[in-house]
Amino acid sequence: MKSYKLGVLSGDGIGPEIVSATVDVFKAAAEKLDVKFNWTDLPMGWEAIDKYNDPTPQVTKEALLQCDGWIMGPHDSAAYPEEHKAKRNPSGELRHTLDLYANVRPAKTMPGTKSVVGEADLVIYRENTEGFYTDRNMYVGTGEWQITEDVVVSTGVFTRKAVERIAHAAFKMAMQRRKKVTIVHKANVIKLGTGLFKRVCLEVAQQYPEVTVDDYHIDAMTAHLVRRAKDFDVIVTENMFGDILSDLAGELVGSLGLAPSINTNENQAMAQAAHGSAPDIAGRNIANPIGIMLSTVMLMDWLSERHNDQKLSELGKLVENGINKTLEDGVKTGDLGGSASTSEFAEAIVDRIKSAV
Ligand code: ATP
Ligand code: MG
Repeated sequence: MKSYKLGVLSGDGIGPEIVSATVDVFKAAAEKLDVKFNWTDLPMGWEAIDKYNDPTPQVTKEALLQCDGWIMGPHDSAAYPEEHKAKRNPSGELRHTLDLYANVRPAKTMPGTKSVVGEADLVIYRENTEGFYTDRNMYVGTGEWQITEDVVVSTGVFTRKAVERIAHAAFKMAMQRRKKVTIVHKANVIKLGTGLFKRVCLEVAQQYPEVTVDDYHIDAMTAHLVRRAKDFDVIVTENMFGDILSDLAGELVGSLGLAPSINTNENQAMAQAAHGSAPDIAGRNIANPIGIMLSTVMLMDWLSERHNDQKLSELGKLVENGINKTLEDGVKTGDLGGSASTSEFAEAIVDRIKSAV
């Protein structure tokens, strides 16, 4: 039987608490379904600064390439020592150096939580390597120029190659879902850049004739999302629009603390919650681990498809059902109005996984 090697990057702030809760839950599910995981802790963020004076050390990056996938806790890079601030943050560094070009961010209503838009089940495909976040891009460097003390030019980069691959990823997912893709851009104003994004997505759409396609300007899209979130299935957009739209979508259907994401290319996948390191509540065992747990469920689905191993998606489903059952039973962390601690919440999920039939 194959054993899957999974990297564990605990992260900063609430990271270690929510990541260890996640590992406990997945260990219980793996035991139940007789799946072998080899969990490997790797230093990143504060832990790596202490050990190697580098928040994203080369040894960790190399070790990640030997993993089948990994979980990454959030990082508090704003608090790192001055010498590290000019570098990319850990998440940006991995997305860029490993070319994890697709940031997949679902927004789905969950039981026992409040949604301001009623039932919704959509997924945002955010291009993760260029667009308006040109952080050390090969064409334009930082993408920002100080012209005079009081004038700055900030730019965006759009390439056919990057748009084609994110569009294919989005359309492939749509084929497995409700067969609908919405392209989000601002081609009436940023005519060349987001115009290319729209045009190339529409070209890729030709290869998926069963998929219905529509498109909106980013500003109009925020209104449509609030008014009729349930009508959307797969949304594809550039980096910054996707970042903002997915925070909005996550909060609309429940809370940012519940929102999962995965960063992928053809060979690697990194599970990462949408929220940050929440330093204000770190170390108190009260953070909500659902975002990172559901991100790890997404990692299971990705691994399942890549290795053609149905057991892994079953395992993900078992965890997801465990989380839903726990919420339905009224066990919740403080941010959702409950009183369970992070570890109590994880134990409640483990109990439900063990007793699942
Ligand atoms: P970053 O720049 O790292 O993304 P941020 O400024 O977006 O950080 P977060 O760290 O996401 O901020 O925190 C925003 C607020 O949400 C804080 O009050 C924090 O306590 C709360 N929060 C974030 N994640 C969780 C969680 N998993 N459980 C409970 N509360 C959370
Ligand atoms: Mg944030």
